Amino acid sequence: MDWRGRRQSRNIEDRRGQPLQGSGGGAGLLLLLRLLPWLLRSRVGRVVLAVGVMAFVGARLLGIDLLQLTSAPGQQTASFSAEEQQLAEFVSVVLADTEHTWQAIFAEQGMSYEEPVLVLFSQRVASACGTASSAVGPFYCPADRRVYLDLSFFRDLDRQLGAPGDFAQAYVVAHEVGHHIQTILGISHQVRNAGRGKSAAVVNALSVRQELQADCFAGVWGHAAGNYRDMLEPGDLEEALQAAAAIGDDRLQKRSGGEVVPDSFTHGTSAQRVEWFRRGFESGDMAQCDTFSAQL
Ligand SMILES: [Zn+2]
Repeated sequence: MDWRGRRQSRNIEDRRGQPLQGSGGGAGLLLLLRLLPWLLRSRVGRVVLAVGVMAFVGARLLGIDLLQLTSAPGQQTASFSAEEQQLAEFVSVVLADTEHTWQAIFAEQGMSYEEPVLVLFSQRVASACGTASSAVGPFYCPADRRVYLDLSFFRDLDRQLGAPGDFAQAYVVAHEVGHHIQTILGISHQVRNAGRGKSAAVVNALSVRQELQADCFAGVWGHAAGNYRDMLEPGDLEEALQAAAAIGDDRLQKRSGGEVVPDSFTHGTSAQRVEWFRRGFESGDMAQCDTFSAQL
């Protein structure tokens, strides 16, 4: 892929090398709560509180997260290899490009696209869907509308699953963004409702269709990246198809203590996954991604 020097996303939340999210900020909050009665009692305390709140809000407006700054001083970036930093940059460029693609598609339909946040983590992460370890693989959490990714997954994709190449990695990101699209369009909600009270087989069949649609949406992104922004190089499509076919290893089905339901990559046959990715890729049209009324 031709990705270097392109725009990076502002929606990357880098939690690599950090303690489980919220723990540092949580301690700060606890301290504040303890001090609160004292602060409210005195006039000086109230002024201090007001200034503090304004500083916090002001910093937020400027895009600085004070809780993160205080919870993990100097832990970011320092310990990462050049290779891993490059991978993080790559993911950021791919995410930015999905934003570009989906903004354009949504705009065509008179809608605005709400961009997802992508959380980079290492080993364990806390999400609104529960805590998860890297073993679950990348996943999307509808409750906080974030994609969670441990970059080590790409190493496994290459070495264990036999799907090397940057476009294979980009496909993984685009697939997770596909779940975000399903969430903001209400598709995921409909799928959940349709499966309520139904047999495991019905729920599973719905889940297959949902996964295949995310593949198709990933293909729609690939179409735009290749045709409108010239990001693809010879062999890239094959890389993505290889990844679509390869991801199905049990590694992805492993649960981390049953906390987070992992992205069900394993559902849908390799052939189906390849077919639906290709369908989105060739048409660039999300209307072609109606896996729910298609005959599988
Ligand atoms: Zn998925």
